Amino acid sequence: MPARSLTSSRSCVSPGARVAVLLPLPLAGAYDYRAGAELLAAGDFVAVPLGGREAIGVVWGDAAGEVAEDRLKTVIRRLPAPPLPRPVRDLVDWVAAYTMAPAGAVLKMAMSVPAALEPARGLVACRLADMAPDIKETPARRRVLDTAGRLPPLAPADLAREAGVGPAVVKGLLEAGALERVELPRPLDFLPPDLDRAGPELSPDQRAAADALVAALDGGFSVAVIDGVTGSGKTEVYFEAVAAALAAGRQSLVLLPEIALSAQWLERFSRRFGVRPAEWHSDLGDARRRDTWRAVANGEAQVVVGARSALFLPFPDLGLIVVDEEHDGAFKQEDGVSYHARDMAVVRARLGGFPAVLASATPSLETMANIQAGRYRRLHLPDRHAGAAMPEIVAIDLRRQPPPRGHWLSPVLVAALEECFAAGEQAMLYLNRRGYAPLTLCRGCGHRLQCPHCTAWLVEHRSAGRLVCHHCGHHIRLPRKCPHCEAEDSFTACGPGVERVAEEAAARFPSARIAVMTSDTCSGPHAAAEFVRKVAAHEIDLLVGTQIVAKGHHFPMLTVVGVVDADLGLEGGDLRAGERTHQLLSQVSGRAGRAERPGRVFLQTYQPDHPVMRALGSGERDGFIAREAELRRAAGMPPYGRLAALVLSGPDSAILDGFASRLSRAAPRLDGMEILGPAPAPMALLRGRHRRRFLVKAPRGVNLQASLHDWLGRVVPPGGVRVQVDIDPYTFW
Ligand code: ADP
Ligand code: ZN
Repeated sequence: MPARSLTSSRSCVSPGARVAVLLPLPLAGAYDYRAGAELLAAGDFVAVPLGGREAIGVVWGDAAGEVAEDRLKTVIRRLPAPPLPRPVRDLVDWVAAYTMAPAGAVLKMAMSVPAALEPARGLVACRLADMAPDIKETPARRRVLDTAGRLPPLAPADLAREAGVGPAVVKGLLEAGALERVELPRPLDFLPPDLDRAGPELSPDQRAAADALVAALDGGFSVAVIDGVTGSGKTEVYFEAVAAALAAGRQSLVLLPEIALSAQWLERFSRRFGVRPAEWHSDLGDARRRDTWRAVANGEAQVVVGARSALFLPFPDLGLIVVDEEHDGAFKQEDGVSYHARDMAVVRARLGGFPAVLASATPSLETMANIQAGRYRRLHLPDRHAGAAMPEIVAIDLRRQPPPRGHWLSPVLVAALEECFAAGEQAMLYLNRRGYAPLTLCRGCGHRLQCPHCTAWLVEHRSAGRLVCHHCGHHIRLPRKCPHCEAEDSFTACGPGVERVAEEAAARFPSARIAVMTSDTCSGPHAAAEFVRKVAAHEIDLLVGTQIVAKGHHFPMLTVVGVVDADLGLEGGDLRAGERTHQLLSQVSGRAGRAERPGRVFLQTYQPDHPVMRALGSGERDGFIAREAELRRAAGMPPYGRLAALVLSGPDSAILDGFASRLSRAAPRLDGMEILGPAPAPMALLRGRHRRRFLVKAPRGVNLQASLHDWLGRVVPPGGVRVQVDIDPYTFW
């Protein structure tokens, strides 16, 4: 094992000396305080006075000495929590410097559960008191007492919910002494994985990849890329590395792009290791979140599977990070601190001195460039497991074989679906558009229904009976009269969304069991898991869905995949449109024919000769990527050049434009640096705020952050105007 960065070698601050304390607030940096009576060390969580209240922060290091001695405030107390480990503190500083976010804003992600810093308490529950006093009875009170008599002790809020009463009723009964509080022991969670279980027998390719990953665990920092087609067993391979890291006594972290969709992944983990991993994502309840944070901090949780935010958990002894589906755009956080979790995972591994593993069937251009430069090592899995064939991919030229008017499925696709259902197999139709129709217009005058707060059409959701803005949530009922020409009942739906495709399929295949899967129909991990279970159990014949159907699922009876509009992702044509469409469609295609029955994929397109369609049809992925890479290199775009977006926004467009031109005049003039804009952002109005954008391009050697910092420091934004900096932007609206 290489030397680990241990937290025990922290230098201590004596009582009365100055310390720097970083607070989880969007302030510039750490503040100076005076240590109280306790010995403090870097990483300790402390309570400090801040503007008349108490705030919690982290001892960050040596004080800057900027605050005058007589104004220096004293640390109130040290919290009884394990210190924030050194590599996590280094990550906070690193991410802050890279993304140009205040360090406090990044720290906030690393201490997202302040409650976890206080000593763990047993859960407080209530039960019937042994000696019931005389109380005034009401029907609500009776229901609570009956419920409490019937069920084991419940938390007050849960008891109220079970009894169908407000929380005040339970509180009243507790005060009156009819109910009493009991402490429940905390459930024994986070059981250690069973390392004696054998994994499946690996194929020679899988074995070679797994051995390489296991060997890397002894070598300090490195990055390996498992580049394997869909269904090649990438998960089984990195499970071997997780097992080896655990056997060496270190923690492991697996990042998944969409944890809510990962029921099958969790099941597989449980089969392999006999326990569930700790999960980390936005749907966790408060108590679970606190317990998990704490279990990670004290080392009890040995494996965590999580969304990108899991990267900032306080692992004291992390020894491996896996980023599955590393190409997925969901790893990029857009609001608040805009960081890319894949890239920051690599940074975390470097700071901690251990390996990172990236897995994908379609690695990003960034990752491919790193492989070519020799920075990352590629481990190749060219074949599907157990001899399953890759699906056959057919482009349907919609110019030659169009669907009938007002329909969206070409006769070729309809025939394939017919055959599929006749053979007792399952199919999937993919369209990355929620709702019924993307656009609603008046037949009389052509008026289009638009969001008043955003540059966006209102999308009809017929099942919910309303039109919705997908950006701000604004919604209306379909107006009877056109607000423009006053014609009655003149609105008509234009184009298809998943609901409309499902409607067409239902009319075509009346006996097929059809389900629509989108973020509207399955919100939260439970609903998603139930959907996935139903499809896997063949209780559904046809699944119609957005990109959430594309991700990772393994449905053995699914043999036909139809992509309703393969050209959709190419619209707009941002820098990664081709790459992203190729990745997404490869992934959708990868759902077909994963077991014994061969799969077929149909891409409905008006551009069958587009390089993306060609690459998908021929399976010539590497040629496609090489060509995309050449285009990027020629244009000086990432990963061959550096790019940042500045989005200025404000409620008043004139003030905003004034600021944008002042900023433009102050722009740095550096060799090779190119500044495009200001221009209205494609989404020129979002949630009522106007938006202007600069794109800044620079050669790789330029310190982009330093130039931007200097530039933005020269012009002060007027009140109400916000400047968002996005280094390595992935969205361009
Ligand atoms: P990928 O992540 O590359 O898409 P998976 O790891 O999901 O591939 O594997 C696809 C399917 O094949 C899964 O059901 C998995 O359990 C199975 N599988 C892969 N490798 C093996 C193996 N060596 N032995 C048994 N089953 C395997
Ligand atoms: Zn809107």
